[in-house]
Amino acid sequence: MKIAIVGTGYVGLVTGTCFSDLGVDVTCVDVNEQKIADLKKGIIPIYEPGLDELVHKNIKAGRLHFETKLEAVLDQVEVVFSAVGTPPGEGGAADLRYVLEVARQVGRTMNDYKLLVTKSTVPVGTAQKVKAAIQEELDLRGVQIPFDVASNPEFLKEGDAINDFSKPNRIVVGVESDRARTLMEKLYHPFTLNGHPVIYMDIPSAEMTKYAANAMLATRISFMNDIANLCELTGADVNMVRRGIGTDERIGSKFLYAGCGYGGSCFPKDVQALIQTGLEHGHPLRVLQAVEAVNEDQKEVVFKKLSHYFEGALSGKTIAVWGLSFKPNTDDMRVAPSLRIIPMLLAAGCKVRAFDPVAHEEARRELGDTIYYASDIYDAAEGASAILMLTEWKDFRMPHWAEVKRRVKHPLVIDGRNIYDKELLHNEGFAHIGIGTK
Ligand code: NAD
Repeated sequence: MKIAIVGTGYVGLVTGTCFSDLGVDVTCVDVNEQKIADLKKGIIPIYEPGLDELVHKNIKAGRLHFETKLEAVLDQVEVVFSAVGTPPGEGGAADLRYVLEVARQVGRTMNDYKLLVTKSTVPVGTAQKVKAAIQEELDLRGVQIPFDVASNPEFLKEGDAINDFSKPNRIVVGVESDRARTLMEKLYHPFTLNGHPVIYMDIPSAEMTKYAANAMLATRISFMNDIANLCELTGADVNMVRRGIGTDERIGSKFLYAGCGYGGSCFPKDVQALIQTGLEHGHPLRVLQAVEAVNEDQKEVVFKKLSHYFEGALSGKTIAVWGLSFKPNTDDMRVAPSLRIIPMLLAAGCKVRAFDPVAHEEARRELGDTIYYASDIYDAAEGASAILMLTEWKDFRMPHWAEVKRRVKHPLVIDGRNIYDKELLHNEGFAHIGIGTK
């Protein structure tokens, strides 16, 4: 089977590479010429564990190709996946311009049946717009060519994307014709063989499923952050509360960690887009409005704790930041809490020494040379009045505290991800401030 994937970002590149690893002949298309030129040379534009090897393996096997123009491959494929970005547009609604541009490209150049599958996260009703855009182009050409659209939202997590793609909890496919369903069944056959459920449904339900999933996860995070803040005021400890409720099978233990707020390329924009869909339909999503408001406040909590500790006297202090990416195992800096906290530190007159295992290059695009990029956590701690732990990289879990203590000016750790044991840190001579902990 031959497919094309348009948009070679986190989702497109991982999806294309993993399909090619299953024996599918895949061409990944992207308008970013530099990205495609690099990929052709085997240079991977993102950090994602395991991706590098898999891309090289499948390029070598002749099953994974890269192109800048969809026209160059469209005649050779029956199925086209669209995995282009859907950034927040006006008022937070998803900006569909890239999704619709792909649809138009298909309509302009197709010569026989095509199935256009939207993998990007798109609001309910987008498939109808995609269909209309293809039909409009066909009408302009004065031709009648059959086509289908489908929705196949992606649930991979950055940092564990290959694993998520290969062993998915479920695959959701929205279709409205037997022909489209048969093609999708063929493509996902290896997954059903391995017992991974493929759930077929109508297209609006598939589109909504993706938003509902991300909204539910974001809700759990904001709920726990809200409880954490109340724990601080009442003398409870959120880590105990988490364990106490997470053992309830109806609740489950995942996604119950208090911290410095969710970021990344998905949760913030998807929550906003779903809120917008609600408003467009005269049904304000009050729970999600609160989820977003809590998260916005939570991103400032670490800074507020620091400022409170030093009674507002931050000017001239050196602050170490451990972790820049929005979560571990990725260099993705989109909407990372560090991008909210660091400008606040700089505005307060602090000098920032930051370390992240992989995100320096991405961070530099946003922060330029306003901060010092340290060579490791110890270098970041040099002369610091406080260490702010913002991303729970595994490498940060067991620092050599005596060495850290030797380097810092003042032994204070503000643990934005609650990964350190307070007692252990006290024994090492550090003050420890967590989120919602005693
Ligand atoms: P990305 O920004 O990393 O990649 C998008 C790519 O599309 C870019 O390389 C861009 O150059 C390319 N592009 C834009 N218009 C194009 C066109 N007309 N033709 C060819 N290429 C074009 O985005 P991403 O993080 O991979 O996300 C893609 C979609 O998947 C979004 O809707 C996102 O919400 C969703 N999603 C993302 C994740 C994630 O973890 N990143 C997970 C699940 C779903």
